[in-house]
Amino acid sequence: MELKNKIIGIIGYSRTGRAVAEFVRKRGGKVKVSELSASRELEEELIEKGYEYELGKNSLEFLKECDLIVISPGVPSKSPFVSELEEKGKDIISEIEFASYFINSKIIGITGSNGKSTVTSMIYHILKEAGVKATIGGNIGIPLIKFTEEDSEYFVVELSSFQLEKIKKFKPFISVLLNITPDHLDRYSNFKDYAIAKFNMFKNQQKTDFAVLNIEDEYIKNNLDNIKATKVLYSIEKEDTDIYTKNNKIFYKKEEILDFSDIPLLGIHNIENTLAVVGVMKIIGLRNSEIKKGIKTFKGLEHRTELCGEINGVKFINDSKATNIDATYKALKSFSSPVILILGGKDKGGDFTLLNDIIKSKVKKLILIGAAREKIKGQLNRDIEFIEVNTMEEAVRNSYALAEKGDIVLLSPACASFDMYKNFEERGKDFKDLVKKLNKEIGNG
Ligand code: ADP
Repeated sequence: MELKNKIIGIIGYSRTGRAVAEFVRKRGGKVKVSELSASRELEEELIEKGYEYELGKNSLEFLKECDLIVISPGVPSKSPFVSELEEKGKDIISEIEFASYFINSKIIGITGSNGKSTVTSMIYHILKEAGVKATIGGNIGIPLIKFTEEDSEYFVVELSSFQLEKIKKFKPFISVLLNITPDHLDRYSNFKDYAIAKFNMFKNQQKTDFAVLNIEDEYIKNNLDNIKATKVLYSIEKEDTDIYTKNNKIFYKKEEILDFSDIPLLGIHNIENTLAVVGVMKIIGLRNSEIKKGIKTFKGLEHRTELCGEINGVKFINDSKATNIDATYKALKSFSSPVILILGGKDKGGDFTLLNDIIKSKVKKLILIGAAREKIKGQLNRDIEFIEVNTMEEAVRNSYALAEKGDIVLLSPACASFDMYKNFEERGKDFKDLVKKLNKEIGNG
């Protein structure tokens, strides 16, 4: 796509918007930024870059002369302003779509409600270890547009539902869909809209492309007919799929690939994630020894069921990235020892009643924190006991006081972090620092 002298509108100027603007500028296009927030620093930056801009509003008038408009993932694509622009015949696309116009390599797209970052990083790691040229990007934190010039065989791209909302021609060679469970119901009016956005990943795929799919997921199972790509199915429950488990081992079409003990990550959800990863690697044609070596040496990501300390036989697990119900559910399901669970934060519209049964069977003591406390209390079964705390420090200290040797203290909030923190990383780091501090005080650290 030629950008010289084209006028490219950018709705939303944060990390993604900035990267798109820079790319357009470098290629001789004219940038018009429309951003709802406004500040002196932002204005100075835009002036310095030489972009046209409007701050504090999104107006039709400002964007009407654009040849193409790129919308940032943070901006709801169903807002009336966006619909009006589309009615006027304007082409509005996501950054992922835009970046894909400039990428010639094969794309491996990964989406799902949970596990995206883990699977994206694991695939990238295995390819690198096997000496395959690969690039990682997308929702994992680095806008894809920044890498279009990299000379790689594969682009491993994490995709959020927001990024998939405005897909027109984007076509991965391999699409991986891990699960679709309720999330972001603060942005989507219903579950169906959210699921449809995820399915956009398959929209342009053909039989010569591949879709790696978790057949245990109800929504995926019921919508297989909407996928044209060649399907590679995996299941943690059944053995009649392409990739499955038996006697604590992972198989691909009856061929043993690895043992559960080869997977360094905690939790059953990470066995599921590994099944998906094996599917991708078999499509690519990696040797079993290369797959196994890559999986064995993958360290896992911070803040995802991460063992972050042990004090007198009590293990502390940081799962701050569990910002929805299913992630917390899976973490709880993974542990056989009694759990002291730290739950709560900023509610994202989740249904906490779904946790009642698993809390009853796995949780020895429940500690509630954050703005969602009242809602959680209202949805908990009456016979579940809990205590309430106001700070993470109180949460950590109380957990330890209530724990016995062999127990697990798990921070898995099932909520976003924005009520008390900048992001889930800051929340997880606070938890880890407090565990370290406690360990020192007790005299072990
Ligand atoms: P995402 O990028 O989709 O948010 P992450 O890999 O960052 O996914 O993990 C987010 C949370 O979900 C973590 O709490 C993690 O332990 C949990 N998780 C990871 N994989 C799965 C899965 N397959 N199913 C359910 N929960 C998962």
